[in-house]
Amino acid sequence: MKILNKERLLETFSDLVSIYSPSLSERLVCDYLSSKLSELGFILHEDLVGEKIGGNSGNLYGFLPGDESLEPLLFCAHMDTVEPARGKKAIFHDDGSITSNGETILGCDALSGVTAIIEAIKTMKEENIHHRPIEILFCVAEEIYGLGSKFFDYSIIKSKESYTLDLSGNVGSAAYKAPSLLTFDIIIKGKSAHSNFKCKESVNAIIVAAKALAQIKTGKINENSTCNIGLIQGGRAPNIVPDLCAVKGELRSYSHNETFKLLNEVIDIFSRITEEHGAKMEVTHELRIEAYETPLNHSVVKRFQNVCEKLDIPCKLCSTLGGSDNNNIEQHGINGLVLAAAMNGCHSCEECTSVSELENITKIVIELMKGEI
Ligand SMILES: [Zn+2]
Repeated sequence: MKILNKERLLETFSDLVSIYSPSLSERLVCDYLSSKLSELGFILHEDLVGEKIGGNSGNLYGFLPGDESLEPLLFCAHMDTVEPARGKKAIFHDDGSITSNGETILGCDALSGVTAIIEAIKTMKEENIHHRPIEILFCVAEEIYGLGSKFFDYSIIKSKESYTLDLSGNVGSAAYKAPSLLTFDIIIKGKSAHSNFKCKESVNAIIVAAKALAQIKTGKINENSTCNIGLIQGGRAPNIVPDLCAVKGELRSYSHNETFKLLNEVIDIFSRITEEHGAKMEVTHELRIEAYETPLNHSVVKRFQNVCEKLDIPCKLCSTLGGSDNNNIEQHGINGLVLAAAMNGCHSCEECTSVSELENITKIVIELMKGEI
């Protein structure tokens, strides 16, 4: 393969990073990508998911016809970033590393992935490289529990296999399984009183919550699952017995059913303790993403392994406790992997990538698209 146009690769990355695109405000990056993809011959469709979820852009889908004797493949990455992102800019260092100025995130999650997909296609077009039919899905609102890809209409997808470019770590790593994730809200309702008068009749909601929380297992609770209590709120003043205490948490498990079993355990503990103290409680929960596991002997895995071998990039298959658009894609009969895509230190101002990582992930995408393997 001809050596990549490194200068242009870095320019595309720099252009994308310089666009402010936090979740639900992906309009400008979507417009940028629409014009690039239509120049490259893609048939495009932007859906109406933005309106549904309160954003200013839909998911961007593109189809590029190719050799019909080869299976089509879907490539996915997300257009949104976390904050702080306003004014973000790629700074290129002499050692090949690329960082932000330290005041914002860089946005390589997942704009490195978007860059690799765009540059792979540009390179193939320039070099007249024979390729399979290619589908692209650039999603909105991935950082809000994959909200964009959750509501995408998968009936238009032709591919049975996909690669989502949205994993941190060494390029060559790929995740084949990810957990279900649910969040829960528990509100303890006690009985308020002045802290000194009528205190016998009061029920301190914060104390009830604390006693229940002391019995909840958190962190990694078994091989498959984690639990976190992330927020607690309640009380009005030091001299008032609080009548309300809200607790928010999340559960993740590679076993979808176990996620709900663990939720019931949490609810049982809270029910028992609230009852013992004469308090009441309300519980709500929301399933955010659903678990998947792509079999390791699947062709989508084999193809990736073969490509890494051809390019002499060490390949490592792993599980991840993080969700991605692939959790939603897999619910529609499409098997996939989440590829490490030149992103490190994600969701922090230390986020960084490097020239060689961007080159390697682009080379991988080209080989996957070519269809020789
Ligand atoms: Zn991401």
